[in-house]
Amino acid sequence: MSRVFNFSAGPAMLPEPVLRKAGEEILDWHGSGMSVMEMSHRGPEFQSIIDHAEADLRELMAIPDNYHVLFLQGGASSQFAAVPFNLLRDKGKADYINTGSWSKKAIGEVKRYCDVNVAATAENENFTWIPKQGQLDLDPSAAYCHMTTNNTIFGTEFHYTPDTGDVPLVADMSSDILSRPIDVSRFGVIYAGAQKNIGPSGLTIIIVRDDLVGHAEDWCPTMLDYKTHADSGSMYNTPPTYGIYIAGLVFQWLKENGGLSAMAGTNQRKANKLYRAIDGSDFYQSPVTPEDRSYMNVPFTLVKPDLDATFLDEAAAQGLSTLKGHRSVGGMRASIYNAMPEEGVDALIEFMHEFEKRNA
Ligand code: PMP
Repeated sequence: MSRVFNFSAGPAMLPEPVLRKAGEEILDWHGSGMSVMEMSHRGPEFQSIIDHAEADLRELMAIPDNYHVLFLQGGASSQFAAVPFNLLRDKGKADYINTGSWSKKAIGEVKRYCDVNVAATAENENFTWIPKQGQLDLDPSAAYCHMTTNNTIFGTEFHYTPDTGDVPLVADMSSDILSRPIDVSRFGVIYAGAQKNIGPSGLTIIIVRDDLVGHAEDWCPTMLDYKTHADSGSMYNTPPTYGIYIAGLVFQWLKENGGLSAMAGTNQRKANKLYRAIDGSDFYQSPVTPEDRSYMNVPFTLVKPDLDATFLDEAAAQGLSTLKGHRSVGGMRASIYNAMPEEGVDALIEFMHEFEKRNA
C-alpha cells in the first residue's frame, strides 16, 4: 500500500494514526460487537464517544463554560442561513467582511433576510489581501459581524481578530479551525465544516455563546435553531455519528501531539518553507500579499501557465496529488492542513525545484 501526499482543499488528508485506529475498531468498537456506524446514537457507547469528543475539543480550544458545542449536519453552508435566523433578533441588519468566495456566498444568503453592510471588501483585487482593523466600516448597531478567518480558495488568512466592540463576532473557521490557538471568548459564534481539519465531511461544528441561543425568529426551521440542538446535546435527531467518532480520534491525536500551540508551530514552518520556495524562484509566483498569506492553503502559479498540466501530471506520478488550483485563481493550490506531514511539504518543494530546473 502506498499513500499519496494529498493536497486537496477538502475533504482533505486525515492523520494516518487516526485512520489506522478507525480501521482496527471498524468491526468491533471496544468490545461492543459492532461498528460505531451501526450503533444507536441513544446508547451509552455512543454517548461516551460524543462526550469525550466534546470534552477534548473544549480542552484543545480552551472553550469557556458559557459556550455550547454543537455537532450538526448541513455543512458550513447551512450556517450561512442559521446565523441570521438565530442572531438577527429585531435588529434587521448585519455586517459582513467580504474576503472571498465563501464570504460572498454567506452574503448572498443573508441578503434574503436582512440589510447587509459590507464592512470591507477585497474583491477589487481578486481577494489577494485581508482588510486591516482600520479599514473596517463597522456599524455599532448591527446584529453581528461575520468574517471568514481563512479563505480556502484565495489563500488569505486573518492574522488578527477584528475588534467589533459589543457586536458579536461570527466566524466561519471551516479551513483553519484547530490550526492554531485562538481566544474563543472574542467570538459569539464559530462554525466549521469538518472536512479539512476535523474529520470527514457531513459533520459541522458550532461553538456558540449561550446568550446568543434561544432568540431565533419564530419562523426559523427547528433544525436551524441553535436552541433545538443546545437543549438536546446535539441529539434532537440522528447526528452524524461516524463523523463525530472520527473527529474524536482527531482530537485525541491533536492532544497526543502537543495541542494547538504545537500545531501552529508546525503549520507555520510548513507554510513558510513553501512560500520561501515560491518567492525564491522566478518560475513560481504567489498572488497573495505576503502579510496576509494563509498557513493552510497556498495558491501559486507558474510563470509559464502552458506547463500547468505537465506540472500536475508529473507531481501526481510522484505521489503529490490534487494540486490543481481553483478556477478563480488558476495555477496550483497546496492545502497543507494539520494532517499534511512536513515530509509532504518537503517532497513538494523538492519536486518544484526539480521541475523548474528542467523547464525554466
Ligand atoms: N466556508 C469555507 C471557508 C469553506 O472552505 C467551505 C468549503 N470548502 C465552506 C464554507 C462550505 O462548506 P460546506 O461544504 O461544509 O458547506
